[in-house]
Amino acid sequence: MMGLGMNRRKALGALLAGCGGASFSCSQPVRAMRGYRMAERMEAIHRGMSFLYTCSGVEENFLRHGEDLLWCFYSIAECITDPEIKRKTLEIGRQRALEWRRLHPKVPADAGVGDVTEYAYGSYCSDLLGLRDERIKEEVRSAAAKVPREEFFGFDPTKEGPPGDIPRRCKTCRKKSVRGVQMCPKCGNPLRMEDRYDILCDAVICSYSGDRYGVRLGGSFAEVAQWIPTMRPYRVKTRVLDDDFYGIAYAVTHIIYAFNDYSLWRLKRDWLPQEYAFLREHLDMVIDGGDFETVGEFIDSLGAFGVTDEDPGIRRALDLILSKQNKDGSWGDPKTSIIYDYYHSTWTAVGGMMEIGWRGEGVIDPAALQAMQQAEAGA
Ligand SMILES: [Zn+2]
Repeated sequence: MMGLGMNRRKALGALLAGCGGASFSCSQPVRAMRGYRMAERMEAIHRGMSFLYTCSGVEENFLRHGEDLLWCFYSIAECITDPEIKRKTLEIGRQRALEWRRLHPKVPADAGVGDVTEYAYGSYCSDLLGLRDERIKEEVRSAAAKVPREEFFGFDPTKEGPPGDIPRRCKTCRKKSVRGVQMCPKCGNPLRMEDRYDILCDAVICSYSGDRYGVRLGGSFAEVAQWIPTMRPYRVKTRVLDDDFYGIAYAVTHIIYAFNDYSLWRLKRDWLPQEYAFLREHLDMVIDGGDFETVGEFIDSLGAFGVTDEDPGIRRALDLILSKQNKDGSWGDPKTSIIYDYYHSTWTAVGGMMEIGWRGEGVIDPAALQAMQQAEAGA
């Protein structure tokens, strides 16, 4: 899973300050649990959640990643069937949302797109965790209306799909150029373009979050979803875990999350056949590459299509996750000090291992499904 705010390659760095062993003891007797290696999974989930609770309590981490951590707690609590973890996670989530509200009392008068999305994500999550604030929502709404549409996604989804001509920052001088520019005007270096799947992924997350919160952030998810058919088929150039692969993989998993409200609803394979096929065809490659973080997202995304832990591929994926937990309960490369890598890996590991309480079959936004299907039929 499943950050609302950013995807992994745009992670912000932070120190692993004070993020260590926590204690969270389960007061419940261990239930007779079904499912592949379920007792070990539950034990690992408890330790992972303890890490996340502690990690979110470190001020520096929360200042950098507060919105994302609130979403982590809310979305896990919503999905997980285990009542004890659900209760504890909501309790911690509420405490952190209180802190988030304290740190974010007012949308700045000159709010740019970064402030608007930060406030929108954090306030949406705080609302969900029981700390509603209608005044802030109005402030976000009026600030969002002043930001040009293209600034949210890099394009206007009422006019076009994810474009291929948005330059990345210059590698040499870090200058950001406007759309269409191929050479850095300052130092003459050729510029690489942003990946269209990264752009799609961010637009999916942003539009979905805005719709759910009830504030327009650059466009609706239905407006974005109509362009999904133009991004298919999902073809990776080589069988390696490179940027091309991750661009597509994260676009695919986040399309699924936006349709199923982050693992609440099961999806028919007919609704997203290419996305399902992509996950199915690349699961082994991600496992063989040892990428436990992405594997977690593949498990719950495939789970949305009814693939369970009876499946041999899912079992191998769970074996990988279980083998990679750190001593402190986290997942993540012990050689890195980037806190995002730890909490996000831990979040996706928990997401992959937990038993999800699916609510039935459906999509959260039927208009978006229809927009996508009509675009496909017309294409
Ligand atoms: Zn330059």
